[in-house]
Amino acid sequence: MNQNQRLKGQSAMITGANSGIGKAIALEMAKEGARVVINYITDEDAVQSMIEEIKSFGGTAVAIEADVSQEDQVKAMFIQMIKSFGTIDILVNNAGIQKDSAFIDMSLQEWQLVLNVNLTGQFLCAREATIEFLRRGPVPERSSALGKIICMSSVHQTIPWAGHVNYATSKGGVSMLMKSMAQELGKHKIRVNSIAPGAIKTPINRSAWGTPEAEAKLLELIPYNRVGEPLDIAKAAVWLASDDSDYVHGSTLFIDGGMTLYPGFSTNG
Ligand code: NAD
Repeated sequence: MNQNQRLKGQSAMITGANSGIGKAIALEMAKEGARVVINYITDEDAVQSMIEEIKSFGGTAVAIEADVSQEDQVKAMFIQMIKSFGTIDILVNNAGIQKDSAFIDMSLQEWQLVLNVNLTGQFLCAREATIEFLRRGPVPERSSALGKIICMSSVHQTIPWAGHVNYATSKGGVSMLMKSMAQELGKHKIRVNSIAPGAIKTPINRSAWGTPEAEAKLLELIPYNRVGEPLDIAKAAVWLASDDSDYVHGSTLFIDGGMTLYPGFSTNG
């Protein structure tokens, strides 16, 4: 457990939390005192060992299997969370996939799958969370905001990405989903923000950092000259969910070692 307990007494749902960035966020939020829902669709063993780890430091976690792109499964997941924890204070819309293909070879199925998980999944979960925030009402001793939504975007919400048009389009959509929700929901004191990671070492992009040659090539895109770790994102997610960031609303926090600084221009273009 971390000393400050910045999320004490709050309930957090992290989607796609059995791996990578979502796993790190779930563990960090639990260490800050939040009860966490670990949403997953694969790898139940990993989920069980996360629950054991969280219990070992005195935290509370439950696992809920649900495909975030399926409305009925998302609704059932929220019902189960509210049964377990009474409510939700923090949603981290993290689940995401890549199905890469050259543009002319991209099938409609590859296009739709990525849009369904990365964009529609975030809409479905955010809508259910908002319904519950409004039903429950404010609990000022827990948090200044009525609820917090953190959307996992990507540097590819702004950097176009050849060979990945479905993924880049989904993250561009997440940017506008987040900002439009923030504009509409701010009056209810629901805080909505995004994190846009650069290259973080997780299974989703192992081919980009898995060998020394691949990592060296990747580092050419990162002015800060290291590939990110899931904890780099998890620490920021805790801050964005806590009252320490209470006036941050409708923002995208780029955590990318400078990837969005046009590193190709560092030698005078
Ligand atoms: P990851 O593959 O380790 O994690 C993705 C998680 O989403 C997995 O647990 C997977 O099972 C889950 N998931 C996939 N489809 C799902 C569905 N339909 N319903 C529920 N869960 C589902 O990869 P990661 O890097 O940890 O990715 C997490 C998020 O971060 C994604 O949204 C990704 O786009 C984003 N991101 C990652 C990077 C990076 O460099 N790793 C960079 C930018 C953005």
